Amino acid sequence: MRRIVVVGAGQAGLVLALGLQRHGYAVTVVTDRDAETIRAGGLISNQCLFHPALTRERALGINFWDGDAPEILGASFGLAGDSPEPAIAWQARFDHPAQSVDQRVKVSDWLTAFAGRGGEVRLGKVTPDGLEEYAREFDLVLVAAGRGPQFDSLFPRDDARSPYREPQRTIGIMYLVSGRDEPLPVYPGLTFGLSQAGELFGLPVQSVRGPVFGLGFFGVPGGPMDVWDDVADVDEHFALAMALLRKQFPWVEESLADARPSGPLDVLRGRVLPIVRDPVGTLPSGAKVLAMGDAAVTNDPIAGQGANMASHAAAVYERRILDHGDRPFDEAFQRRTFAEYWEKAQHATRLSNDFLAPPPDHVLATLDAAQTAPEVARRFAHVFSDPADYAAWLTDEKVALDYLGSNGF
Ligand SMILES: Cc1cc2nc3c(=O)[nH]c(=O)nc-3n(C[C@H](O)[C@H](O)[C@H](O)COP(=O)(O)OP(=O)(O)OC[C@H]3O[C@@H](n4cnc5c(N)ncnc54)[C@H](O)[C@@H]3O)c2cc1C
Repeated sequence: MRRIVVVGAGQAGLVLALGLQRHGYAVTVVTDRDAETIRAGGLISNQCLFHPALTRERALGINFWDGDAPEILGASFGLAGDSPEPAIAWQARFDHPAQSVDQRVKVSDWLTAFAGRGGEVRLGKVTPDGLEEYAREFDLVLVAAGRGPQFDSLFPRDDARSPYREPQRTIGIMYLVSGRDEPLPVYPGLTFGLSQAGELFGLPVQSVRGPVFGLGFFGVPGGPMDVWDDVADVDEHFALAMALLRKQFPWVEESLADARPSGPLDVLRGRVLPIVRDPVGTLPSGAKVLAMGDAAVTNDPIAGQGANMASHAAAVYERRILDHGDRPFDEAFQRRTFAEYWEKAQHATRLSNDFLAPPPDHVLATLDAAQTAPEVARRFAHVFSDPADYAAWLTDEKVALDYLGSNGF
C-alpha cells in the first residue's frame, strides 16, 4: 500500500486525506495546529463553497453540517453610485444553494473524523528542510500548508501566471449576530457590493458560535477602504465596518442596523498576495514534493474561489493517485496532476485577478442588463460556481456584447 503524507490540515489537505482514507490508503497528516487549537482560534476565512465543492463533500460523507448551515440561495449585487441607492442592483437565485461553514468548525471536525477513522495525525510545523525526512519515509509528499512565503524556496513564483507583485486589497472580515431577538434581516445569499474604493462580500455562515453573518470589506490600497492596519480590537473593527457600510454601501446598512460582533476572535484583517507557483519542489536529495491548494495557487479572496479550488485540487489529486497504482510518484506524475487541476483552476484565478481591476465597459453593460434580464443575472451569479463560463464569456468584449445583443440589448 502506498504511503502518503499531507502537510497541512486545511480544505485542500483534509479533503484529499479523507478521500484517500476511504480507499484504504495509509495517509498521514502533519499539521501545526490540533483540532481544539483551530476551533478556539481566530477567524480563518469566509469560505463560501459552491455546488461542485459541496457535491464532493457529500460524496465523501464529510458534509457534517447540511441541515444546520444556512443555505446561500443566490447573489445580490449592488454598484455604488452618487445616491444612497445603488446605481445598478439585481438579485439572482443559484441553481443549487451554496454554503459557508466556518473553517474552524470544518477543519477541526474533519481532523477529528480523520483520526477517528484510523488516520495518523502528527503535530508539528514542517519546514522546507524538514520535508526531506518525509520524502524518505513516504512514497508521496504533498504540501497543502496554505498561503504565504514559508515554502517560497521550494515553489517559486510562476511569473507568466502571476500578474500581481503586491497584494491588491486590504481585507477586513468579521462575524456578526443580531443584537435583538429576531435574526438579522439580511439577504439569504451572497451580498456583493462594488464601489470605486473596493468591494463588500457578505453571507450567512454557520460558525463556531452558530449562525452568523460574515461581513468582508476589500479595500483598494491607499483608498478610503484601506483602514484596517492599526485596528486594535473587535470593537474598533466593528465601528470601522459600520462606517464603511454607511459611506460605501449605504443600501446594505439597514439590514445590519441591529448587528453586533459575534465574538472577540471573529475578526480577520490582512492582505493576500495572489500568486501561482511552480507546484513541484525539488529537495536537496533530489526528491520531488507536490504543492496543492493555496500552497500552489493563491487567489485574492475577492471572488470566493480559494476554498472551492482547494476542494477541486483534492478531487483531481485523489483520482490521479488512485489511477497511478503502484508506479512511482515521479516528477512527470506530479506535473500531470497539477496540469489537470490547473485546466479548471486557471479560470478561478483569472476571475479573481480580473475582479481586482476596475470593471471594463462590457462588464458594466452586462451588470446593467442583469437588472432587467433575469437570464443575464442568473448567468452572472453562476460565474462564482463556474468560473470557466466567466472566462468563455466576459473576458472577451465581443462575446459579451454579442450575448447582450442576443438578449435584446
Ligand atoms: C478573508 C478571506 C475570505 C475568504 N473567502 C473565501 C470564500 O468565500 N470562498 C472560497 O472558496 N475561499 C475563500 N477564501 C480562501 C480560502 O480560505 C483558502 O483558499 C482555503 O482555505 C485554502 O485551503 P488550503 O487547505 O490550501 O490552505 P489553508 O486553509 O490555509 O490550510 C493550511 C493548513 O496548513 C497548516 N499549516 C500551515 N503551515 C504549516 C506547516 N509549516 N506545517 C504544518 N502545517 C502547516 C495550517 O495550520 C492549516 O491548517 C478566503 C480567504 C480569506 C483570507
